[in-house]
Amino acid sequence: MKIDLHSHTNCSDGELTPKELVHRANNLQVDVLAITDHDSVEGLNLAHQAIAQDNLKVKLINGVEISTAWHSFEVHIVGLNIDKDCPQLQSRLASQLATRRNRAERIAAKLAKVGVEGALEGAKKLAKGQSLSRVHFAKYLINKGVVSDFDAAFKKYLARKAKAYVAPGWITIEQAVQWIDEAGGQAVLAHPSRYDLSNKWIRKLIDEFKAAGGKGIEVSLPRQSPNERQQLAKYAIDNQLLASQGSDFHRISRFSELGRNIQLPEKVTPIWHDWALNEDMV
Ligand code: AMP
Ligand code: MN
Ligand code: MN
Ligand code: MN
Repeated sequence: MKIDLHSHTNCSDGELTPKELVHRANNLQVDVLAITDHDSVEGLNLAHQAIAQDNLKVKLINGVEISTAWHSFEVHIVGLNIDKDCPQLQSRLASQLATRRNRAERIAAKLAKVGVEGALEGAKKLAKGQSLSRVHFAKYLINKGVVSDFDAAFKKYLARKAKAYVAPGWITIEQAVQWIDEAGGQAVLAHPSRYDLSNKWIRKLIDEFKAAGGKGIEVSLPRQSPNERQQLAKYAIDNQLLASQGSDFHRISRFSELGRNIQLPEKVTPIWHDWALNEDMV
């Protein structure tokens, strides 16, 4: 069974529409796909509609990826199987989207100070959904010829400690776990090895996430060393956390593909172990 529990549409910083994304997953014979847009559930209804109208086989899991502040880091918490229609969740996410808009104004002001004008309007134009991202600023900088690629845009302007970085004022990990919990979902610590943390700090992060009521951690991601995957599997087992896997797909490129290269090591308990998946999928 091909399972991918982390992906993005153009409702946040992905490039495919929800319809294009579920078609791509279906064509690649992904059996189970979670759409986990940043701080947004906007794409889920469109994706469900496309699956129903076009009679696709892929099963869609309602997800979200919530940004949190932890020390000086931005830690992402994925929620799986959330009730996308939960009014409380929707109003909570609306406040995160407002935080995003406020941050965008401050990023644009910093960019203007170093000579890049028009970034707020430019980023807004590139954002198709409500979730305004640093990726939209990166695209604006590339289109304007200020930098040549995403890496340079983040390194020079948008990443922590770069020229136009703004500490965003996200919610805490505890709040994100609570939001997901109260919307009936399972909270999963996203890509623990992508925060530039030492092993000691990763363990501290996992401890605190578990203490906050977190249920799982992402163990398998693409482009990961076997060592790193084994280490994350060990953390999952040691902390009695369920294991998740996801491509974190944002766009078509030779580096990333839905459902590719993300099988879990055998010894962990998959987060989907008690989900009602169709007999013929398992
Ligand atoms: P935001 O949610 O607006 O803070 O933007 C963070 C997003 O930027 C992440 O979810 C990634 O998709 C993307 N990102 C972060 N770092 C980089 C990087 N160095 N190069 C390209 N994309 C990045
Ligand atoms: Mn992203
Ligand atoms: Mn993330
Ligand atoms: Mn993601």
